[in-house]
Amino acid sequence: MSRSGEHWGNPGGRPGTRTGLVRVDAIGAACPVCGRRKFCSVSRDGGMVWCTREASRDERDYGYGTAWVHVLDAPVRLDPEVLRRVSLAREPGSIALRDRVYRALLDALRLDRRHRDNLRGRGLDDEQIELGGYASMPQEGRGYVARDLFETFGDDLAHVPGFYQWDDGRWAIAGYSGLLVPVRDVAGTIEALKVRLDNPPPDGGRYRFVSSSSKGGAKAVSTLHVPMFGQAIGADEIRITEGELKADVTTALSGIPTLSVPGVEAWRLGLQAAEVLRPQRVRVAFDMDRDTNPAVARAQRALVTALRGAGFRVGVESWDPTLKGVDDFYSAQRAQRAAQ
Ligand SMILES: [Zn+2]
Repeated sequence: MSRSGEHWGNPGGRPGTRTGLVRVDAIGAACPVCGRRKFCSVSRDGGMVWCTREASRDERDYGYGTAWVHVLDAPVRLDPEVLRRVSLAREPGSIALRDRVYRALLDALRLDRRHRDNLRGRGLDDEQIELGGYASMPQEGRGYVARDLFETFGDDLAHVPGFYQWDDGRWAIAGYSGLLVPVRDVAGTIEALKVRLDNPPPDGGRYRFVSSSSKGGAKAVSTLHVPMFGQAIGADEIRITEGELKADVTTALSGIPTLSVPGVEAWRLGLQAAEVLRPQRVRVAFDMDRDTNPAVARAQRALVTALRGAGFRVGVESWDPTLKGVDDFYSAQRAQRAAQ
């Protein structure tokens, strides 16, 4: 564990820039140091990990938040399958390309009844569901959709996370079936797609970025999300939470534009959003498991400190800890009002 990180160059920089590291969530792998499936990164030879949970003596800013460098000894290096995925991962295409292709994909897919019911049950009305642009990723029939999109977009499709080609040239769409949630920037541009899995694996994680890096295609871009409704631009007050659908629902139920970072480790994206939007006040509302989860508590502290340092008035929101997310809190309030 003595090698210097210098040799590896600087994989940090702004999110979305080309780096020597690949994030585990982009390749559907677990971090070899902490086991989580988010935000930690591995080098292309598997010899080094930038872990966002397990501290080491080598602390770095990796653009999204804090990471600690771990140089792996041979016995704990990545397994060959993960290494293969890392080596295959391609950089994604431009935001404009992703936006065009994802819009066409969402248009081509329908929103299943059960997914619409799920969204309504969370408190979104039909207009918000329309604006949000949700759709259902089916288990069957994706090949036809991919073929149609290829006719429009041609080989550019290879640079859009989610799309890949079989050896015989046929196009396909990777990933799990479930509810697709567009991940948007302040202008409403779709930068990525998240899927809420219909059948989450037992090892946790209900949400995944749509990515085709495990199939030799482009890796996902995980980024800040700004809901389509709620007018974040020009708002006096914004809220920052974790999770895209949570942000949409919380915006709808609270009336306060609620932005989300894709994981608490990516807290710095919240600071960057505030610096762009310049509200007077920022509410921070990470999940209530921060009371028992040191990583959440640490990320929240870091974000609050950074926001205050940048001159924002910051409020940390707390609620009944049996309700995990801030969306759960507002849903419970809504149910209570309905019962009165
Ligand atoms: Zn890790």
